Order: sequence, then C-alpha cells, then structure tokens
Amino acid sequence: MIIDGKKEANILKTEIQKEISLLKKKINKVPELIVILIGNFEPSQIYVRNKQKVSQEVGMHSKIVKYPENVSEKEILNKIKDLNKDDNVSGILVQLPLPEHISKEKIINLIEPSKDVDGFNPLNVGNLASGFKAIIPCTPMGCLMLIKKVEKNLSGKHAVIVGRSNLNGKPMAQLLLKENCTVTVVHSKTKNLKQECCRADILVAAAGVASLIKKDWVKDNSIVIDVGINRLGDKLVGDVSFEEVKDKVKAITPVPGGVGPMTIVCLLKNTLECFKARWI
Ligand code: NAP
Repeated sequence: MIIDGKKEANILKTEIQKEISLLKKKINKVPELIVILIGNFEPSQIYVRNKQKVSQEVGMHSKIVKYPENVSEKEILNKIKDLNKDDNVSGILVQLPLPEHISKEKIINLIEPSKDVDGFNPLNVGNLASGFKAIIPCTPMGCLMLIKKVEKNLSGKHAVIVGRSNLNGKPMAQLLLKENCTVTVVHSKTKNLKQECCRADILVAAAGVASLIKKDWVKDNSIVIDVGINRLGDKLVGDVSFEEVKDKVKAITPVPGGVGPMTIVCLLKNTLECFKARWI
C-alpha cells in the first residue's frame, strides 16, 4: 500500500475549512497565522509562500512579515512581543533556519506557548514529553496520522525512528511512546543501524540522507514513513529507496506526496486549535 499523503491532507484540509466557516458564522472571527521570514533563503521563501496559500484556502487570515538578512535580533524579539500581545493573532511561526546572529533559542523561548503553532517552545515540548496537552510539531503529527490510517492500534509495536532532531525525531518518539509503542531512536552515531531498522514494525526515516534505507533494512510487512526531503539534481527523493522497498512492506509513504502535504495541513490544524483555545 502506498500511503497517499496528498489525499489524506486534502481530507483534513476540508475538515478545517468547514470548521473555520462555522466558527466565522458563530463568532465572526477567523484564525490568523503570522509567519516571520528573515533573509532570502530560497527554500524558506517557497515554504512560507505555500503556508500562506494553503492557510488562505481554508479561510484563515495569514500574513508574512519579511525582514532582511541583517535585521537585528532585538527587532525580531520586539516583533514577537507585539504579536504575543495581539489578540487577533492565533499563531506565530518564525521560519527556520535563522541567520547566525539571531538566537534560535531566544526566539523559540519568547513565542507565547499558546500561539506556538510549530510546537517548539520548551513548554509545549515538556508537556508533550509529560503526556499532557501540548501543541505538537506539525511533521510528527502528520506522520502519526498517516501511520494510524494503516493501523489504528499501535500498542506493543516496535517503532524505530532514524534521526533525533527537535523538529522530527524526538517529538515522533514521544508520540509513538504515547501510543504504547516500544521506541528506538537511532542517529548518526548509532552502531548497527541496519540491524536496528530491521527490527521495526514502524520505521520513521528522518535523517535527511537520500536513499539511506534499503530493501534489506526493512522488515516484511512493516509500515515505513519517509520524512526525508533530499534534492538530487532536479528530483526530490526521500531517505528510503522507495522503488526497492515498496513491495516488501505493508505500507509506505512516497516522496513527494507523502509526509510533506500533511505537515502543512497540520500547521493549519495547530493554528485552528490555538484560535479555539482563545475564543471558544
Ligand atoms: P536534522 O536536524 O539534520 O537531523 C537529522 C537527524 O538524522 C540527526 O539526528 C542525525 O544524527 C540523523 N542522521 C543524519 N545522518 C544519519 C545517518 N547516516 N544515519 C543515521 N542517522 C543520521 O534534520 P531534520 O530537520 O530532522 O530533517 C530530516 C529530514 O526531514 C530532512 O531531509 C528534511 O528536509 C526533512 N523534513 C521533511 C519535512 C516534511 O514535511 N516532509 C519536514 C521537516 C523536515 P545526529 O543527531 O547524530 O547528527
């Protein structure tokens, strides 16, 4: 089974759109997402434009606040303070990566946790790890939704996550622990990477290494979620050798068209939830 991330994302997008339209009728307000973009890094510009386009499609207000590469850290921090106080703003996202002179730690710590639609603020990270209500980072949230389309009950499954980033690997591990999986997180210093991957009922690849996961790295009948986005010439490929792996496993996400479309819709979901927590 090839998991169709585009289709699942569209289903979720329609649900969000309907809910926003109902809320608009009820309270005459809609969620507003503010994206701060610093500098001219091309991939960031594309991501941010997509986020704005999709959020407007579901009826949200969305604004991109652009700054030049040499903007001071103080100016960004002041802008975040203003957005934190603005009741009309439901979600704040600062597009990463940041220029070197701006501290990611300071930015992430300053974003009001109830508007932290990326789920990176330590309060949200801690709440997720504690099993409390939290804003969940968008990509792992989307991955879990796709896994659960294939298998509802994950209890007792062995999940292996390749990568331990704050963005992907660590929150993915927390989410799968919460689903009662036995979780192994592997990374660039792991010995016997292949053997670890071979034990996975659920394998989530988030290393950013093109075609790292080969056919003899996956277990028969497993679920494989490919988070990786790697550019090979003018082609995008994942972390999994899709063609050789797809016939061996129970389900797999393609790249593109798998996890990517879910990530952006999960951002809208987080923005809507932040809005509801404030107004409903
Ligand atoms: P990251 O911060 O660079 O983290 C990569 C992780 O993978 C690190 O923990 C690293 O280990 C580990 N790793 C790297 N090479 C490895 C190897 N050869 N074997 C085992 N582990 C290895 O990357 P990220 O931000 O999590 O992103 C990962 C990938 O997902 C990228 O391709 C990115 O473009 C993609 N991505 C996709 C989406 C989406 O929506 N589909 C969203 C976000 C990111 P160490 O910790 O030891 O360095």
